[in-house]
Amino acid sequence: MSETYDVVLIGGGVMSATLGTFLQQLQPDWKIAVFERLGEVAEESSNAWNNAGTGHSALCELNYMPDPTDPAKAIAINEQFQQSRQFWTSLVEAGVLDEPQTFINSAPHMTFVRGEKDVAYLKHRYETLKQQPLFETIEYSEDSRVINQWAPLLMDKRRKADEPFAATRVVGGTDVDFGALTRQLFAALDKSGADLLRDTEVRDLAKQKDGTWRVDFRRRIGGAPGHINARFVFVGAGGWAIKLLQKAGIPEIKGFGVFPLGGQWLKTSDPAIVARHKAKVYSQAAIGAPPMSVPHLDTRVVNGEASLLFGPFATFSPKFLKKGSPADIVAQVRPSNIGSMLKVAATNVDLVKYLISELLKSHKRKVDSLREFMPTAEAGDWELLQAGQRAQVMKGGKLQFGTEVVAAADGTIAGLLGASPGASTAVSIMLGLLKDCFPERIEGWAPKLTELIPSYGTTLNDKPERAREVLARTADALHISV
Ligand SMILES: Cc1cc2nc3c(=O)[nH]c(=O)nc-3n(C[C@H](O)[C@H](O)[C@H](O)COP(=O)(O)OP(=O)(O)OC[C@H]3O[C@@H](n4cnc5c(N)ncnc54)[C@H](O)[C@@H]3O)c2cc1C
Repeated sequence: MSETYDVVLIGGGVMSATLGTFLQQLQPDWKIAVFERLGEVAEESSNAWNNAGTGHSALCELNYMPDPTDPAKAIAINEQFQQSRQFWTSLVEAGVLDEPQTFINSAPHMTFVRGEKDVAYLKHRYETLKQQPLFETIEYSEDSRVINQWAPLLMDKRRKADEPFAATRVVGGTDVDFGALTRQLFAALDKSGADLLRDTEVRDLAKQKDGTWRVDFRRRIGGAPGHINARFVFVGAGGWAIKLLQKAGIPEIKGFGVFPLGGQWLKTSDPAIVARHKAKVYSQAAIGAPPMSVPHLDTRVVNGEASLLFGPFATFSPKFLKKGSPADIVAQVRPSNIGSMLKVAATNVDLVKYLISELLKSHKRKVDSLREFMPTAEAGDWELLQAGQRAQVMKGGKLQFGTEVVAAADGTIAGLLGASPGASTAVSIMLGLLKDCFPERIEGWAPKLTELIPSYGTTLNDKPERAREVLARTADALHISV
């Protein structure tokens, strides 16, 4: 007889780590198993060098507010990040997570734009956001001396006479090492009795007569096969989630496809350059560029060491994971999704053009793009780094840039597709999943969820005093700026 677990988490990324932590806190009596095909957790998208580490809260990313009069989406993204901040605060206080600086650090979030049209847009956006409690600390300037104080590398050798420019800044922005966060969460799960199976790949999923799932796996070393049973399965397999959900045969996955997009960064660890930039600076996207390919010049803090990243530059690979298979893109094709996928290919001409122009960029041309942010950049100071793969959702003939939880109607299996805003909103995504997959338990869990996330079930932006209080409390506990 094979063993039966209450919960099986497939994939050792931030999503499984977050859901596992929730379930461990809510039902400490449940038996949890985690499968990770690689030798260590957090080696794919959740690894610090595979993503940009932006604590996405719409403070600086323009794609969350294309219309400068409408802050709704920006507020929603910020609200989600406030849930993450509160959850991490509770876990630090409970000793589940280590010292906050090991995974989160202050990095003011800035937006920098050039040209009359974008300057007018940024000013309008600032005026709208300034009225919102979660954004009230936002600052705006067109003055080169002020922007020079905020981020000197942007201003060195830049002539105002050439074209107008403007910037906004929110001092309370963050840089998050989602890899460190993930490793710490799994270490705590391990300690509390969960079974972590590394180097073990889940190969198949089948619903059984008794309602449990049969989870077939194979050890990567030695190749020994095995199987266990699970009452609930979360497919947190990143780019490979689609493959496993298709294998599970749930009708809800029909019609979905994913489009892989890779990325590269320019990175410098030169202490003289790094010391002069302490911010994440976002700008406008190029025509055709997907929203998450907007270039940004970022402070990163990984293992206590600061460096700067610039990018991402889009790359193409047919793999759905960095360590995936070249056959991934073809293996997903089904009669139910081929029509939608062909429509995406035919209707995204700008994206294809953008990808081709990115792929043709030499190191020198990449540094030229960096010079639009940092006019003094020298090619020799920057090395090229491969980022993680994003598997963008294709559905109904459209390419989507968000994340999508796909759950079976009976709530016994769910998986996550897509990448953005990603790791920052893992907490909010998992709260939604708990509600969808455990409807009969969610009410009973509410007191514990409120202990973990004091604003659980409510919003903050419509309660200015409460918003200020939560921002100040989490900033204090996580040792970050308000
Ligand atoms: C270039 C880039 C920049 C990004 N920037 C940001 C950012 O600034 N801020 C932000 O919040 N988010 C960002 N993201 C998104 C964020 O990184 C992802 O949303 C998040 O890491 C996804 O976590 P995950 O757990 O779903 O997947 P992953 O971290 O990819 O983990 C999935 C795991 O599943 C394992 N696995 C797969 N198949 C199997 C199987 N069959 N059996 C066992 N194990 C399996 C994989 O090996 C992997 O370890 C970025 C992503 C990319 C690619």
